[in-house]
Amino acid sequence: MRVGVMLSQSLVSLDHVPLQALADAGVWAVLLRCFEDEIRWRAPSAEAFARSAAAAGLRVFLVPAGYGGLFSPEQHPTSLFVQAHPATRQVDLRGRRIARACPNNPAYIEWLTSSLRTLAWLIDADGFVWEEPGFYYNRGLWTCRCPYCQGRYASQFGGTMPAELSPQLAGLRQRSIADLVAIISGAVKGVDSRLACLLMPTPAPQSGAIPNGNENWRQLSAVEELDGLIVSWPPGTATDEPLSGALSLWEDLPAWVEHGTLMLLRLLCNLGSEEAALTLRHLAAADVPAIVLECPEPLTADLPRGVKALLRMVAETA
Ligand SMILES: [Zn+2]
Repeated sequence: MRVGVMLSQSLVSLDHVPLQALADAGVWAVLLRCFEDEIRWRAPSAEAFARSAAAAGLRVFLVPAGYGGLFSPEQHPTSLFVQAHPATRQVDLRGRRIARACPNNPAYIEWLTSSLRTLAWLIDADGFVWEEPGFYYNRGLWTCRCPYCQGRYASQFGGTMPAELSPQLAGLRQRSIADLVAIISGAVKGVDSRLACLLMPTPAPQSGAIPNGNENWRQLSAVEELDGLIVSWPPGTATDEPLSGALSLWEDLPAWVEHGTLMLLRLLCNLGSEEAALTLRHLAAADVPAIVLECPEPLTADLPRGVKALLRMVAETA
């Protein structure tokens, strides 16, 4: 089973990531969150990090965070773009603009594709991960009623957009996200056709998923420009779902995606725990091809012995 490790730390502290120790422990890839406002000033640090990781034998995946506030919302990234371009923001039912750009806004799409192309060009990586791109949705409050979304609704269904999130409207939001993901994947592949593009939907069990536009895994798995999906367990930080539930999620997945879709599993866990070790053993036995580990703590110069042993155990499981 291949192992990827998700890194969420600031670019200035990347020097402390024990790349060689990770590679020696059998880790296959590192996934680096690239925060929009940080990468603006510190792209050379990310570039140097990618070079060191490759030299250690690791694959590198870039996870753009922010970029109009649309990506990695759980990380609360800031976005100078939405501050500077308020007219691109999503609009809620009361007409308020929220701090997240609209995936149907042409000016935003143009800036986003150009920024991601630059990232692909600057940093020598193996691929990109699109983390939770979605519309705003919180306790029944939703977006987007901007002129572009209204226009898209009118041309598809006729009439004005309803005040409630109807099935048509939910479908339109899903289609909008699938279209955006196709556009940006095509854009970075235009820079380098070898770049893999993976999508990480919002962690949510399929029953009762949050309708933020990335909940339709079947539609997303059919996006031609995407190479696969990374689904996450547990379904939220506030749940007390046991980690072992990842196995049931994995077994249920074929019912939710197109046949033949490359699926990876992201586990949010404490690597030092017994529970993590046991779950990883079961997942490896279930032929999960690759796993992405998201650790609550930033990785520092010395990998704890228990973590090393765990990574090695997983990597050695065929
Ligand atoms: Zn809109």
